[in-house]
Amino acid sequence: MNENKRDGLLCSFCGRSQYDVQKLVAGLSAFICDRCILERGYVDESEPKKVVETEIEDLQSCAFCEKSRNEVINLFAGPSASICNECVELCTNIINE
Ligand SMILES: [Zn+2]
Ligand SMILES: [Zn+2]
Repeated sequence: MNENKRDGLLCSFCGRSQYDVQKLVAGLSAFICDRCILERGYVDESEPKKVVETEIEDLQSCAFCEKSRNEVINLFAGPSASICNECVELCTNIINE
C-alpha cells in the first residue's frame, strides 16, 4: 500500500513527470516540460515546416491558449496535446527566468 507516492503532473508531450524535469509549465489543458519546450523552440525557420497531421479534433488547437492551428504559425502536436509557436516562446521565457 504505497499508493501515497503519486507520479505528480505529467508532461503532455513526453510523459515525464514533474519530478523528472527541471520545469513543468501548466497550460489551460496540458503541461509541457522544459525539455519539450527547448526541442520545439529550436525549430529552424528557414527549414520547410513539418506539418504534423493529427486526426483527433482536440489536437487541432493549442492546449495552452486555445488558438486553432489556423490562428498560429505553427502548432506542435504531442501524443495528447498540441502547443503553438507563441506558447513555446512564452514558455521559453518562463523557463529561462
Ligand atoms: Zn516533455
Ligand atoms: Zn498557444
